Amino acid sequence: MLDFLFKKQSNQPIYLFNTLSREKDLFVPIKSGKVGLYTCGPTVYGFPHLGNMRTYVFEDILKRVLNYNAYKVHHIMNITDVGHLTGDRDMGDDKMEKESRIEGKTAWEIADFYTKAFKDDLKNLNIIFPDVFCKATDNIKEQIEMIEVLEKKGFIYKTSDGIYFDTSKVSDYNKLSHQKLEDLKEGARIEANPEKKNSTDFALWKFSPKDIKRQMEWPSPYGVGFPGWHIECSAMSVKYLGEQFDIHCGAVDFVNLHHTNELAQTESATGKKPWVKYWLHGEFLNLDKGRKMSKSAGDAITVNNTFIEKGMSPLVFRFVCLNTHYRKAMEWNDEVAVSSSHAYEILKKKITNLGKEIGKVDSEWKIKFNTAINDDLNMAQALAVLNEMLKSDLPPAHKLATALDFDKVFGLELKKVSEKDEVKTEIPEEIQKLVDERKTARANKDWKKSDELREKVKSLGFEVKDTPEGQEIVKIQLVDTFR
Ligand SMILES: [Zn+2]
Repeated sequence: MLDFLFKKQSNQPIYLFNTLSREKDLFVPIKSGKVGLYTCGPTVYGFPHLGNMRTYVFEDILKRVLNYNAYKVHHIMNITDVGHLTGDRDMGDDKMEKESRIEGKTAWEIADFYTKAFKDDLKNLNIIFPDVFCKATDNIKEQIEMIEVLEKKGFIYKTSDGIYFDTSKVSDYNKLSHQKLEDLKEGARIEANPEKKNSTDFALWKFSPKDIKRQMEWPSPYGVGFPGWHIECSAMSVKYLGEQFDIHCGAVDFVNLHHTNELAQTESATGKKPWVKYWLHGEFLNLDKGRKMSKSAGDAITVNNTFIEKGMSPLVFRFVCLNTHYRKAMEWNDEVAVSSSHAYEILKKKITNLGKEIGKVDSEWKIKFNTAINDDLNMAQALAVLNEMLKSDLPPAHKLATALDFDKVFGLELKKVSEKDEVKTEIPEEIQKLVDERKTARANKDWKKSDELREKVKSLGFEVKDTPEGQEIVKIQLVDTFR
């Protein structure tokens, strides 16, 4: 038996909810011990909003879970810097070129600027970088080559504005979406293009308009133009991960369009099925009343303006993401931000209180933790295991070692927390004076004055709490209204 070879990876089975099967499937990689992972990256024409970043946090957790189970993950992420049109379905302006006109910069400068902003957000959220970031504009040759293969196999046709993929030639076009073909076609009719044979057909290559000079365009056997949005992910994933690989991820809105089209064209080009074994999709982040956050709706809620500019740690957002399962919609509002910030502070305090000595990782708690994370990334359960472990009678040094081991997956930088000495809030003299006055007022049972002084202290950014040990002064975390 070769069982011993697999021992290292498969002590505990991993189950992942696969959009393709619509079930929690046992994870079995194509190559033992290794995972090929492709995650769709950003279109770099603006700052990513928190909804976008939720997807990248979920993918980071997936990768860390695989790493924790001793898999070696090869992770590829694309940067869409051309071809994503404002209409999403091959109609409208190129998002890059449009932003370039608004900002008065070149499309290339726009791409560089927002790619950097995106990478800063990844760093701020403690997201491990992919092994390869690949830009669509660096892989035009590979995309044209895939279109040529599709041409040879009879999957494409030409219209006045580009080269299109004929979805009627693919018998299992709807296998990822699980929607009726008629429903997919209906959804695709939003952007009617009378020249398309089927409403679900999509552009592989778009011709540059005759009257406007595009900044980003390339020669091709079909004419000067630029690639369609979906072909980049197919061409680049095959280039870096091979014709078949393990996991492909993105946000849930990619299922019916972007990923369905990627899947149709790749399997048609390579003739190999399945292209990807496991498809994982992360749910949205909603504003109040279930409204989806989107850039086009003007929701400029970013890591920067929500956390960094207000002196809050962006890891609070990571903590919120851990608490909500990736397949559940996440509500986001002032209250969530404040309560999560508070809960994260409490966790940090518990870690600091363990001292600095690092003992041994406790194997029983480790098994409980591993079971939770391997159950389709049940991170809320994993956090519950952490809390139970911290409450247990394990010696503090072993608790710390075990918490730091779990943090390889949580990514909450608990090591840094444990190394810090307890931070005492500095109380300004003016506040201390008001609090002392309040103490006297309370001693004199002058409740009216006591309340007035409490309000005054609050207006200056501090809160007074009455505890059995006397008055406690807490600095208020300022969180603005998000809308
Ligand atoms: Zn993609």
